[in-house]
Amino acid sequence: MSGVNRGKDIAEGSFMNISNDQQQTPSRYESQKRRDWNAFVQYLQNHRPPVSVSQCSYNHVLDFLRYLDQFGKTKVHLQGCMFYGQPEPPAPCTCPLRQAWGSLDALIGRLRAAYEENGGAPSVNPFASGSIRIYLREVKECQAKARGIPYKKKKKKMGGGGSSSSSQGMGAEESGSTSSFHFS
Ligand SMILES: [Zn+2]
Repeated sequence: MSGVNRGKDIAEGSFMNISNDQQQTPSRYESQKRRDWNAFVQYLQNHRPPVSVSQCSYNHVLDFLRYLDQFGKTKVHLQGCMFYGQPEPPAPCTCPLRQAWGSLDALIGRLRAAYEENGGAPSVNPFASGSIRIYLREVKECQAKARGIPYKKKKKKMGGGGSSSSSQGMGAEESGSTSSFHFS
């Protein structure tokens, strides 16, 4: 008995949905992801020697990210530039344009998904490699310093410390250094 009713509901439902075809068109994210994936595959094919997707490692991904820098539009000042660390330099300089960290981060996310959608095993996904994460973090820190964009509270530069910056939870030390300010 109920089977008949269910069949009727499905028939009515599908009739109602005829005009609802907006979900068929790929989203901007999906089409961007396809373009990125095609660009990466193309890059591997142009590689010497050519590399297949199944052979590619995180090293190829890192090379791809560096290769993309030539198409970047974000000014990243070199350490010797007088505008190093200035968010809004008053004059142009000859420092190179790079891919912004945020663009690379989003790109890796799309390619990571595309790799698995195109048959790659998650266990060997080169886009999920820890080396990629480390590279992106270095790019983020480098660009934040060069462009004067603080993304994280850090203790004041002391010059030539040489200590690792991996320590966290040093708030007490940080607040202690502010007591040396003078009011004139
Ligand atoms: Zn510069």
